[in-house]
Amino acid sequence: MWLFTGCSLYTLYIVKSRIFVPFGYSMITMRHNTNNPKENRIVLTQPVRKKTLSTVEDLKNFFHLSVSNIQVVIDQYPMRIHPYVANLMAHDPDGPLCRQFIPTIQELYDNLGTDDPLSENLQSPVRQIIHRYPDRVVFLVSNTCPSFCRFCMRKRFVGKQPQVCKDDIQAGLSYIAKTLTIREVILSGGDPFMQDDQVLFDILDQIKKLEHVQILRIHSRIPILMPERITSELILQLRAYHPLYINLHVNHPEEFSDASQKVVENLADAGFPLGAQTVLLKGVNDHPETMLQLMQKLLTLRIRPYYLHHMDDTQGTRHFQTSIDRGLQIMERLRGYMSGMGIPQYMIDLPGGGGKVPLLPDYVLKRSSSVWLFKNFEGKHIEWKTRKTDHTGIYD
Ligand code: SF4
Repeated sequence: MWLFTGCSLYTLYIVKSRIFVPFGYSMITMRHNTNNPKENRIVLTQPVRKKTLSTVEDLKNFFHLSVSNIQVVIDQYPMRIHPYVANLMAHDPDGPLCRQFIPTIQELYDNLGTDDPLSENLQSPVRQIIHRYPDRVVFLVSNTCPSFCRFCMRKRFVGKQPQVCKDDIQAGLSYIAKTLTIREVILSGGDPFMQDDQVLFDILDQIKKLEHVQILRIHSRIPILMPERITSELILQLRAYHPLYINLHVNHPEEFSDASQKVVENLADAGFPLGAQTVLLKGVNDHPETMLQLMQKLLTLRIRPYYLHHMDDTQGTRHFQTSIDRGLQIMERLRGYMSGMGIPQYMIDLPGGGGKVPLLPDYVLKRSSSVWLFKNFEGKHIEWKTRKTDHTGIYD
């Protein structure tokens, strides 16, 4: 008798009305949140993983996966699934979370991508800094994450290298200190919250002292997918670094649980401007309705949708790529059907470090000196006649 049967690969089962619980697990009742509160449902007694999944054996025990071809993938791109994520995944073994975190052989069938498609290494004046735009830098303060996304654009080092050492952090801080054009520092990685509190606060303290740096930003997936890390004490201490923006990485409404929503609420109450970055992923969120639900969910949680990223050409991730046209269709569906506050910018990061460019559906169909022809959200064509304007203004 089967409790869950997703794709044939994933099964959790009941034997004679009792759930079979493999060694190392216990049972709980969980409430799983979808975007629609009415659909939030009680998922009865599922196995609870207490340890991180990192081996083929772990997958086999937790999901009863057919794992014959996964070891070769893990050998090249390590697997790590935090127990919190494993338990979120367990209710839907072919769902959007499993697709993001369980390795597949397709990762090895990608011979077109490159390991550093955005040439981050070339734009790195010192080891942990990426300096692409004049006024801001990305500071990679961590080489690891609690769970490794299979589509990670930094697959080349996330989970493969030891944690960032003090010397490299100090070199990054020195670079920021002496480069006076930098107005904003983005802590990224890996996940910055994987650093010890002591190291993290030391970094923030040193940057905060620099007069030319006005804004700090942290990019993290941890508040959503390892919420126990974001304690009330941590939030209290982070408040000393305002204006500190926190950008969360969220790809699907099912990533939210009661615990992560509480953390988000605490962060918002503590005054951190919250943004969300979403990666457009085939088979995960490449559907207009899913994206609409996600953006609505973010807004209700006081998270401003910021970017929808088109997938980079990172080696080992091609199976997650959608077409740009698909992304534009999704953006078209968002416009008009939800508040403009909930519409992210759809961005493509140009290869070779060319930087981000926004992608927009075609709303301007024709333009001349006297008239512009627009297409609105319903597909209606509407003209806008230009008036004669005196272009000599106060700024000329
Ligand atoms: S959270 Fe970000 S850095 Fe970490 S594995 Fe996922 S995509 Fe990569």
